[in-house]
Amino acid sequence: MDIRFEQCETLKEKPDESSLGFGKYMTDYMFVCDWTKDEGWKDARIVPYAPIELDPSCVTLHYAQETFEGLKAYRREDGKIQLFRPEMNAKRMQRSNERLCMPAFPVEDFVQAVREFVKVEQDWVPSAPNTSLYIRPFMFATEHALGVHMATSYKFMIIGCPVGAYYATGLDPVKILVEDELVRAVKGGTGFTKCGGNYAGSILGQVKAEKMGYDQVLWLDGENRRYVEEVGTMNIMFKISGEIYTAPIDNGTVLAGVTRDSMLHLLRDWGYKVNETRLSVDALMKAGHDGALEEVFGTGTAAVISPVGELRYKDDEVIINDMKTGELTQKLYDTLTGIQWGRIEDKYGWTQVVE
Ligand SMILES: *Cc1c(COP(=O)(O)O)cnc(C)c1O
Repeated sequence: MDIRFEQCETLKEKPDESSLGFGKYMTDYMFVCDWTKDEGWKDARIVPYAPIELDPSCVTLHYAQETFEGLKAYRREDGKIQLFRPEMNAKRMQRSNERLCMPAFPVEDFVQAVREFVKVEQDWVPSAPNTSLYIRPFMFATEHALGVHMATSYKFMIIGCPVGAYYATGLDPVKILVEDELVRAVKGGTGFTKCGGNYAGSILGQVKAEKMGYDQVLWLDGENRRYVEEVGTMNIMFKISGEIYTAPIDNGTVLAGVTRDSMLHLLRDWGYKVNETRLSVDALMKAGHDGALEEVFGTGTAAVISPVGELRYKDDEVIINDMKTGELTQKLYDTLTGIQWGRIEDKYGWTQVVE
């Protein structure tokens, strides 16, 4: 893929690395590529970051034909920049797009576009501990026409923003509300895809949880409101009597997280028995009361790992590991972030240097 480059006249001032937050400061450039039914993908370009013009009848604004990805570029101690398993994001986006009847962007082109984008924006990859450049590839229909159909034109774009260390003062266990009414995904739906619509539908659960004093929602399966699936926008894992449990991804309702897959690799390597199986909320709460529930944590690119300290389901409540970060949770966090930031050797071949 040839990528055209259009230089900015002036560059933005870089924000202070101690107050980056998440998604507040966009970099100078964006990657754009257009697709039409007749011509396929064309005019890949990296151009100055700027608003885009859409017709009010653009189908995305009405029917949410949109998918996205999320990954990071990490600055190592030797100054080099690396990516973590970007081809997994490329393949996942293809699966999302297939479900939403959107065109596939080739895996090699996706990885090339991310690499070129990061090269252009290398000065935006922060170097303070545990900061990174968050990369957001996304695709949406651009056709204007109000009929519901597979659109005849799409845009694939990549934008980026430097993000701060997720944990300023060490891992911080969160309080979770098990949502027993609203659902995130059903079999046959779009639960396994990263599409904007899934997120729109999940905000109410988050608002409800926050109103009740909880940080996040634990989603149960849509059919039975019984099996645990995901926490907020993360995959979730449990350590029960020394074994690991997490929801299977072959049901079509759980997102196949890159972090999830990487952690399961590490856990199996360390000799843990990993059960990718459905776990009922009743069994979970019982394990909590019996003292068998040793650790609970969410996994995702943004936070890497998010320890769970408290679970509430209807009138029942369990505290996990005294509200403290578990030993295994900490070890997984240290190992994965160690590989991602190049502090420890990557014997899995997960990282690739960009510049
Ligand atoms: C993105 C996402 C995850 C985590 O995936 P990673 O590839 O690990 O970042 C988990 N669940 C949902 C619903 C997501 O959207």
